[in-house]
Amino acid sequence: MQPSLHKAVAIISIPKIIPRAEHTISRSNISEGALKVLYRLKNAGYQAYLVGGGVRDVLLGREPKDFDVATNALPEQVREQFRNCHLIGRRFRLAHVRVGADIIEVATFRAAPNADDADAGANQDTRDKNNPHPTDGDTCASGSMPRAAKDGRIMRDNVYGSVEEDAWRRDFTINALYYNIDDFSLVDYTGGLEDLNAGRLRLIGDPEQRYREDPVRMLRAVRFAAKLGFRIDPDSAAPLFKLGYLLDDISSARLYDETLKLFMGGYAVQTFQLLRHYGLFGHLFPYTEADLAHEESHFPLILVTCALTNTDARIAAGKTTTPAFLYAALLWGAMRTLAHQMQVQGMNEAEALQEAGNVIVARQVQRTALPKRFSLPMREIWNLQLRLTQITGKRPFVTLTHPRFRAAYDFMLLRAEAGEEIQELCDWWTRFQIAEDDEQQGMVNVARTGTVAGTGKKRTRRSRSKSGKAVSASQSGDSAE
Ligand code: ATP
Ligand code: MG
Repeated sequence: MQPSLHKAVAIISIPKIIPRAEHTISRSNISEGALKVLYRLKNAGYQAYLVGGGVRDVLLGREPKDFDVATNALPEQVREQFRNCHLIGRRFRLAHVRVGADIIEVATFRAAPNADDADAGANQDTRDKNNPHPTDGDTCASGSMPRAAKDGRIMRDNVYGSVEEDAWRRDFTINALYYNIDDFSLVDYTGGLEDLNAGRLRLIGDPEQRYREDPVRMLRAVRFAAKLGFRIDPDSAAPLFKLGYLLDDISSARLYDETLKLFMGGYAVQTFQLLRHYGLFGHLFPYTEADLAHEESHFPLILVTCALTNTDARIAAGKTTTPAFLYAALLWGAMRTLAHQMQVQGMNEAEALQEAGNVIVARQVQRTALPKRFSLPMREIWNLQLRLTQITGKRPFVTLTHPRFRAAYDFMLLRAEAGEEIQELCDWWTRFQIAEDDEQQGMVNVARTGTVAGTGKKRTRRSRSKSGKAVSASQSGDSAE
């Protein structure tokens, strides 16, 4: 392997240092917790910087999701400074410092994998504050730092380094800006500020090599482009079209984490479009992609788009969202197509839906894991779709008390919005929920048993409802999580 360019450049690079008076990061934009950690490290004689999304988002006038700190203190030294601190990551140790409700991630500066080890090295930044389960990067035993090569992918961990080396091993230039707590200056080694001002997302170093080292950077490229409304620099965008297959080797646990970040970060619609544009979506949801690519792709595409629009709207309104509903929508089309095939082969509708659900979920979790606490409610949402067609006798009363009724009802509205012929049924349930006892009794007496499950691929091509009804109601089932 050739020495990596970014590594070579790192050694001779001169950072641009922007003094406090010439940039817009003020301490009032930084969380109290992050400031506390920065000051404590500084006062103990260590270097301490804010880095990553926190700096990037504040510079863009956005509210950061979280704050990451980089320091020359070793993890054990960080731990000595804080009472509420624990070290995570078996392969690369990071400190999580709890300050009130905040968790500040403190990482010791590290170098990019040595150029000579480029086929070894480390799989970086696979940690997630909310998902402590092991991912690709956390699977090695502590301290042993084993090496393993796989197509230039980094499998082994790397070494501690200087702040400069730390900058060059990061993914995008805009993610490698450092706010120095010592003098409140901004330090830019990689040209991140210029890219930030130009609205440009650019990988540090050779893009193809950086994607090969860690293919998840492709998903991160799409996620940041969608979230920030940035253009991916042509050199960084070009390899995306051909390297999607590298994602097939990433663990399902890590892809699950990334999937949630992609679709539950408030920009799911644009993210989905970009993922499909670059041919990456099919590597996360192959069965959905196959269904979307199918001749009659109109309906599943609208359903997925409506579900994602709905998710974004809920997040914008500060409401909760659940992976159960998201996955239910993403996989519904593929599940139903399979169920339809099973029905053609002689299975009854209920059996076919059940069996197709089993098959699709079992296949999907091989790609992006889905914890049982979400896959079970997702299956209930699906199963209830058939029960919702039974609107005579006592059944509707029982269905109404089901803990997943609300989510299932919202899902039905979504299907109607996407064009399935179930509007009448939706209206029936909308009325039934608010009707007085007498009226409810009258409704179940006169109702005909419908064949409106929509599971038989009946659909109309009506245009999307502008009422926003399904959008405002959907996903409220997550309250039952
Ligand atoms: P956000 O938290 O808003 O999603 P972020 O940029 O802070 O965005 P994190 O996942 O929190 O993303 O990572 C923090 C920083 O760590 C990044 O800004 C980047 O500098 C570095 N980083 C994260 N993942 C990688 C990776 N796969 N390869 C190289 N550097 C990474
Ligand atoms: Mg972050």
